[in-house]
Amino acid sequence: MTALITATNLSKSFPIFGGRLIKKQIGALHAVEDVSFTIARGETLAVVGESGCGKSTTGRLVMRLIEPTAGQVDFDGVDLMSLRGEKLKQERRRLQLIFQDPSSAFNPRMTVANLVAEPMNIAGRSASEQRDRVRELLPLVGLAPEHADRFPHQFSGGQRQRIGIARALALRPDFVVCDEPVSALDVSVQAQVVNLLKDLQQQFGLTYMFISHDLRVVRHIADRVAVMYLGKIVEYGEKHKVYSNPTHPYTRLLMSAVPLPEPGRKRHVATVGEIETQGIANNGCRFASRCPHVMPICRDVVPPLVETDIDHSAACHLVNKSLGAAA
Ligand code: SF4
Repeated sequence: MTALITATNLSKSFPIFGGRLIKKQIGALHAVEDVSFTIARGETLAVVGESGCGKSTTGRLVMRLIEPTAGQVDFDGVDLMSLRGEKLKQERRRLQLIFQDPSSAFNPRMTVANLVAEPMNIAGRSASEQRDRVRELLPLVGLAPEHADRFPHQFSGGQRQRIGIARALALRPDFVVCDEPVSALDVSVQAQVVNLLKDLQQQFGLTYMFISHDLRVVRHIADRVAVMYLGKIVEYGEKHKVYSNPTHPYTRLLMSAVPLPEPGRKRHVATVGEIETQGIANNGCRFASRCPHVMPICRDVVPPLVETDIDHSAACHLVNKSLGAAA
């Protein structure tokens, strides 16, 4: 399969300001650091991790909604970072975003028809084209024609997400970043929205980056998975390999948080502590303060992402050790 998106060494730092009288930069928060991945046309890459791990920032970097501190994004053979002005606008129409809470992006005074048509309006499409496309999109996302004249507050959360999906598809994008699109919904509605996204992907050959904190949801939609911890990818690979053989201790922690099918049963959580966002060490493994397997080397040397199998990599000194032992 050909790559639609290739991100290479993407990094994003935000300045931290301090000082009593004069605010000056006292440091930087490395929200995303040296992140690389490829998404093939028509596939779904799930980016998974706890809140604050940099997954949403990565999604916005890939769409160039925020500028990276370093790194490149190649979209369908075009270096997205080199584009300016009208050319950037044109390419951006092929990249769309579905929000966790679509109503935050909706003007409550606009009808569904106007909300779905708005991206086309901004892109200068004719009124008749907008009308036809809205008529085409509503049934595709499971809404009825009469919904076109209603307002967002008249819908349930699941229906509002369907409006958000229709709006994202209005300009016939190739690539969609789905940023926690179901995490605000009830479990039964989550499945419906995930199934809708899968159907639309098949129908229109869409490529997704699916951002989530929930490995249970991701399992139903991902082809490949990137697990992020404090701005770095710590495990990356084909879904079945990551799920059947989670290699990084952090991935195993996330797996342990997934509820078991039997009511009341929980997995054993094999780690300590909470995610740290303060004082992240630039040297060593960022997971060291929580890892039950931490070794002296972990605090001094950043573990590189190494391949443990075809299309499966992890960034952990334990992996390096076992690969070294096997060699
Ligand atoms: Fe744990 Fe060390 Fe591996 Fe980091 S590198 S996950 S601290 S064993």
